Amino acid sequence: MAARFFNTLSRSVQEFAPLDPAGKSVGMYCCGPTVHDFAHIGNFRTFVFADLVRRFLEFRGFAVTHVMNITDVEDKIIRRVREAGTTLREFTGKYEAAFLDDVRALNCLPPHQTPRATEYIAEMVDLIGQLIERGIAYRAPEGSVYFSIEKYRGCGCKYGQLVKLNFDEMRVGERVASDEYEKESLADFALWKARVPDDGDVFWPSPWGEGRPGWHIECSAMSMKLLGPSFDLHLGGEDLAFPHHEDEIAQSEGATGQPFVKHWMHGAHLLVEGKKMSKSLGNFFTLRDLLAKGFTGREIRYLLLTAHYRDSFNFTIDGLTGARTALARIDECLAKLRELAGATVAGSDAAVLHKFAGALDDDLNISAAWAAVFDWVRDLNRALAANELQPAAAAAALGAWQRMDAVVGIGGKSEAEVPVELLALLDERNAARKAKDFKRGDTIRDELKSKGWAIEDTAKGAKLKKL
Ligand code: AMP
Ligand code: ZN
Repeated sequence: MAARFFNTLSRSVQEFAPLDPAGKSVGMYCCGPTVHDFAHIGNFRTFVFADLVRRFLEFRGFAVTHVMNITDVEDKIIRRVREAGTTLREFTGKYEAAFLDDVRALNCLPPHQTPRATEYIAEMVDLIGQLIERGIAYRAPEGSVYFSIEKYRGCGCKYGQLVKLNFDEMRVGERVASDEYEKESLADFALWKARVPDDGDVFWPSPWGEGRPGWHIECSAMSMKLLGPSFDLHLGGEDLAFPHHEDEIAQSEGATGQPFVKHWMHGAHLLVEGKKMSKSLGNFFTLRDLLAKGFTGREIRYLLLTAHYRDSFNFTIDGLTGARTALARIDECLAKLRELAGATVAGSDAAVLHKFAGALDDDLNISAAWAAVFDWVRDLNRALAANELQPAAAAAALGAWQRMDAVVGIGGKSEAEVPVELLALLDERNAARKAKDFKRGDTIRDELKSKGWAIEDTAKGAKLKKL
């Protein structure tokens, strides 16, 4: 079965099919953190969701290039730099490093590229230049450059691809200077903001005078530079759909005349104890706050992964305690399986993998995926208690866990430490032999050999042995 995800662009669940004619490589961009403070647990819900999408696509055999930017210049940052009386780089460097530590603590795979906005100013200037050339952007009297929604729509382009907009109230040429605004303030938005005294040292030269980029152009420039003018998948939290992502589409399609992104995925927000997180309500948690309370990154990651990404998630401290209990059930079962399997290595138990992956194919139905895992743990525990499990079956269960854990990333790996992609190849080779496709079986054997692993066919099943 192919993976199907809800695409915000089509407002429907669609088969995930990348632009690559070979159907293999996937360009994926997730809007990264604005490094003006320590990231909160809501932010991490979105980044763990993006990590799950990437890991699942990899599980399904796609070669994903994952880009996550670091927003290190925008309105809030400039305000905070001014208040802190420091330099931009010193200020953002501290929060960027903290963020990268935090995502590591949550066992998110490092993106292949983490571009900083301030290192792509030339690309932003270039993109704005193209929009001016095409008559879609214009210079306002005070020197800033704005995106003209009227001109963009006039060339047959659609503004309002991700959200429904009401153009009746919009006054043509009205401008919004701030990076964040509501749908009701629909107006021409800033691409380049002319330098003002409050910006301090934060400015760059441009053909339109000194200034700095608007937030939205940053992501258009970085994503297209690293993934090309049209790419497969763009993610972020639901609050980013408007205006940030809508503006990204407009800037990119306005400049290139090509469709920008094929699949858009948005994660719903996290609430704490049923309420929107806010410092004044005292329900605001950074990852560090939770680690300081004695919870682990693994427990927090598991909890964040228990809800469907399109449902808002109510985060509670009780939920974290429950996560600890759930993980202990998995860990205990894995420990018993390891003891029984000993040195036996086998392919993976196909039945549980099939259920687990089938659930995630269905728009990342994580609850059904966890149900498959916990039913499997219960059945294994019963068989273990009754002394009915053979070492080969225990090894196959561990193999299955290793592959499932490559998707959920909560740890508890098998001790065999066979790289997960090789276990997938071993499963494929076993399936090929079962189907009497010995040619394919031999090709896989050669591929494994070239990677330094030999297949040993034993009475208990196929094993991988390091050469
Ligand atoms: P920011 O650092 O504010 O640019 O946000 C980084 C990411 O976190 C974005 O994708 C936001 O949509 C997302 N985000 C912000 N608040 C929440 C929340 N309460 N729950 C889930 N995601 C959030
Ligand atoms: Zn972005």
